[in-house]
Amino acid sequence: MAAQIIDGKKISSEIKDELKEKVRILKEEKGIEVTLAVILVGEDPASQVYVRNKKRACEYIGIRSLSYELPEDTTQEELLKLIDELNNRKDVDGILVQMPVPEQIDEKTVIDAISPAKDVDGFHPMSVGALCIGERGFVSCTPAGVIQLLKRSNIEISGKECVIVGRSNIVGKPMSMLMLRENATVTVAHSRTADLKAVCKRADIVIAAVGKPKMITADYLKEGATVIDVGINRNPETGKLCGDVDYDGAVNVAGAITPVPGGVGPMTIAMLMNNCYEAALMHNGL
Ligand code: NDP
Repeated sequence: MAAQIIDGKKISSEIKDELKEKVRILKEEKGIEVTLAVILVGEDPASQVYVRNKKRACEYIGIRSLSYELPEDTTQEELLKLIDELNNRKDVDGILVQMPVPEQIDEKTVIDAISPAKDVDGFHPMSVGALCIGERGFVSCTPAGVIQLLKRSNIEISGKECVIVGRSNIVGKPMSMLMLRENATVTVAHSRTADLKAVCKRADIVIAAVGKPKMITADYLKEGATVIDVGINRNPETGKLCGDVDYDGAVNVAGAITPVPGGVGPMTIAMLMNNCYEAALMHNGL
């Protein structure tokens, strides 16, 4: 049977349209304007594109975005001062510092400085801790997007064997916590996993977050498995974008699969927007 192609573009558009309506209602009925502060340090071209896309999504949904574009030689002290000001501003719901930051600034110090109440990226240790023990808090956007892709594609998670390949703080680890919360039986694989192929082959759901172009080939997959490809890589041969999964082979074995681009990618911004909305609700005691 042909695999179900999970359309991340369509699902993220649905989420953005739902949010647009919720943001409108919040403004009209309660006078609350959802506000995100976006900080970019330096002129990294990829970061500039990400920031532009985030601002565009805010505009579409009706979220006010405040933009702070700081020079490459900004000191850590200057950045921390700005974060502190934004932490204390009542009219700011979410704060996002686009990563990576220039080398004179320590990424972890920046993450820790953002108030957990405004941590819409979900990277603060308090947010991660809340996720681990099942309390309300912000969830890292990409893994949260994967859950939405699965749920909105009617893919059963509860009781299923899920293998996540990758254990980074922003994808693999929070992903494992979310799948556990959804009652999957979770295995987290990584570069030291012995016989990765055999481990993946027993999975009903494989989530690849490795950063290695087309590493997960069809022979890693059980017939009918759901395959979620978080990877965004450049194909070394063609220079085009590709995932961690060898899509052309995997699509013949998988029951459902996400393409790259157009799968997980578009979900990240949609979930960021959702976190901003949630932040505004929390700040207003809703
Ligand atoms: P990291 O480099 O931080 O982590 C990669 C993980 O993969 C590590 O845990 C590493 O293991 C593991 N790994 C590396 N090589 C192997 C191997 N041969 N076999 C098994 N495991 C391996 O990457 P990220 O988590 O930040 O990103 C992963 C991918 O997802 C990238 O392609 C990135 O571009 C993409 N991404 C996409 C996003 C989106 O919006 N769609 C958002 C974020 C990331 P170990 O810990 O042992 O070193």
